Amino acid sequence: MSETTSETTSETAYEGTRPLRERAVELDAVDPLAAKRDLFALDDDVVYLDGNSLGALPAHVPARVADVVQRQWGELRIRSWTESGWWTAPERIGDRIAPLVGAAPGQVVVADSTSVNVFKAVVAGVRLASADPRRTDVVVDATTFPTDGYVAESAARLTGHRIVPVDPADPAALRAELGPTTAVVLLNHVDFRSGRLHDLPALTAAVHDAGAVAVWDLCHSAGALPVGLDAHGVDLAVGCTYKYLNGGPGSPAFLYVAERHQAAFDSPLPGWNSHADPFAMSRDYAAVDGARRGRVGTPDILSMLALEAALDVWEGVTIEEVRAKSLALTDFFLRCVAEYAGGASVTSVAQVTPVTPAEHAARGSQVALRCGEAPVVMERLIARGVVGDLRRPDLLRFGFAPLYVSFADAERAASTLAEVLAELRA
Ligand SMILES: *Cc1c(COP(=O)(O)O)cnc(C)c1O
Repeated sequence: MSETTSETTSETAYEGTRPLRERAVELDAVDPLAAKRDLFALDDDVVYLDGNSLGALPAHVPARVADVVQRQWGELRIRSWTESGWWTAPERIGDRIAPLVGAAPGQVVVADSTSVNVFKAVVAGVRLASADPRRTDVVVDATTFPTDGYVAESAARLTGHRIVPVDPADPAALRAELGPTTAVVLLNHVDFRSGRLHDLPALTAAVHDAGAVAVWDLCHSAGALPVGLDAHGVDLAVGCTYKYLNGGPGSPAFLYVAERHQAAFDSPLPGWNSHADPFAMSRDYAAVDGARRGRVGTPDILSMLALEAALDVWEGVTIEEVRAKSLALTDFFLRCVAEYAGGASVTSVAQVTPVTPAEHAARGSQVALRCGEAPVVMERLIARGVVGDLRRPDLLRFGFAPLYVSFADAERAASTLAEVLAELRA
């Protein structure tokens, strides 16, 4: 079936889609998160599979932002720093993100971009480890999202450390690099290209066995799957809020500082917002206690309060439910792709090969397909209302945000993909 489907026209492909199309309807009917989709501003004729890059807009956010602008800023003006809770927003919103990443309150602060938080975490991590001068290495995920690598390299240069690249998909090789010279290990929880989920509990334990500090980047896991920061003893973590947390373009990132490290957390960017008494305007710096130590300067209130409003969609949802749906969605999408567009006999470059692991334990919430003609394929998919994205040169990425992506979306994406591939082979 799959081989014939892929070799024939889209008309016959349509016939072949019927059983899976029916299956999608059944799966949507029993999906406990199905009603959440109505909370988002989405078009019925578009399948939005780019929530791993920019989460969709929760429909109530524009009115909340309008209130922040018109009333809080426009009418209350400077009073809003206290009366509208602007000053305490970074830690208040951090506490709302905390349960989604398995952190008890008081350890997450919302501030700055992920890139800036990587800098804070790597330098502060090096400082936590610096009691031992033999710890000269900053071990970095060789497949990392580039910004983490660039920032870590500069941080290492500033602190006189050296960068050691490792592949977190190969735990044995990673373990072999860890030892008495390791200061900090910076890893991505989910690989942004392949969608591979790395083993945070085991790798964190390995970092601790070596006596080093574990820093995790949660950009592709926060809001998509359970992270368990406290349960697994992670030291420091950073993450985005505009992907699976739907905070809006450029919404501020978060920084997690485990409680046991807060007293020693020595920020390389000790701005006045992290001062124990900022309005004393003192010449000398004295760090505030707690996660607030991760703050730098005046928070970007408009973005931050858009994020706060966006977090309302998590009401009544557990991250475990989200994970269950995410795996079911990506399983179903992979199955549809295999049936509609698979076929081992196809030798054309217009074929797709999943690079996302089949095992659930190693899968994030996206599916990446390798395709020789990825740029034209994605262009045509988007033209037909299936929005994923391209990672050059040859990866098609499809992000599955479980709060608003349906099984019908997954099926339509796969059948549209099969149509596009069939056209390119014709
Ligand atoms: C999206 C992403 C970033 C983005 O960093 P910004 O500073 O927000 O641009 C960083 N790291 C990872 C792993 C990402 O996926």
